[in-house]
Amino acid sequence: MTDRTAIITGGASGIGEAIARRLAADGNMVAIFDLDGDAAESVAASIADRGGKAVGLQVDVTDRSALETAVEDVRARLARPTVLVNNAGMSVPSPFLDITADAWQRSLAVNLTAAFDCCQLVLPDMIDEGWGRIVNISSSSVHSGSPGLSPYVSAKSGVVGLTKSLALEFGKLGITVNTIPPGFIDTPMLRNTVAKGFVDLDLQTAKTPVGRIGRPEDIAATCAFLVSDEAGYITGQMIGVNGGRNT
Ligand code: NAP
Repeated sequence: MTDRTAIITGGASGIGEAIARRLAADGNMVAIFDLDGDAAESVAASIADRGGKAVGLQVDVTDRSALETAVEDVRARLARPTVLVNNAGMSVPSPFLDITADAWQRSLAVNLTAAFDCCQLVLPDMIDEGWGRIVNISSSSVHSGSPGLSPYVSAKSGVVGLTKSLALEFGKLGITVNTIPPGFIDTPMLRNTVAKGFVDLDLQTAKTPVGRIGRPEDIAATCAFLVSDEAGYITGQMIGVNGGRNT
């Protein structure tokens, strides 16, 4: 159990929600940043009902000044954040030749630049505390590429580079930075991609060595370990959680 404060972006749904619930169950205070403020507050209230301490905040992670305000709010209402999980993400499947410049920029903003902003805003607290944990949720698609998802895969590949570079820069200060590239995990995002015909879930399940699609809790368990004290010698790593698909 810890009494640390963790920020989880996109923590009102799917993988982020599972991470928020797991980190709270492990004794962390949690701050949930999400586009959907009602859903963020609802997850926070549910955590509080179970004895945890949580706040849910409406934040668009592509808005740097909104992030600054939200991080300041976390310091005031909980404590200085020393755990950051950059999880908010979005993908809009589209054939490559139909992708607009705006869609490309939006994907980079949500999936990559937001992680840069959050790291810059929270790292000073971690440096002052001499301890920090950053986990960036990337995607198993960075191993293979993915048709129809080039803006998303490009942004997530950038997240891997950000992770490795920050790990080298901040390792001596007690701060670890790792990335989890999830395989197919059963969340609203995956269901939406399946509904649009870009993923055949039965086919992907058949191709998965452990014989099932992942659960958000699979990612949350790995994240919980990476933010623990015990994981202090693991940094700059890409820890695949994918049922054995990408080895
Ligand atoms: P999800 O259920 O759609 O959850 C993503 C959450 O992020 C949603 O609550 C969403 O809010 C929020 N969000 C999106 N844009 C945001 C923004 N600009 N500011 C703040 N919050 C924002 O998706 P998920 O599957 O759990 O995905 C979580 C992470 O895992 C993402 O980074 C995703 O790329 C990655 N991932 C997922 C899979 C998979 O199979 N599920 C595989 C590989 C990687 P709204 O719902 O209001 O938009």
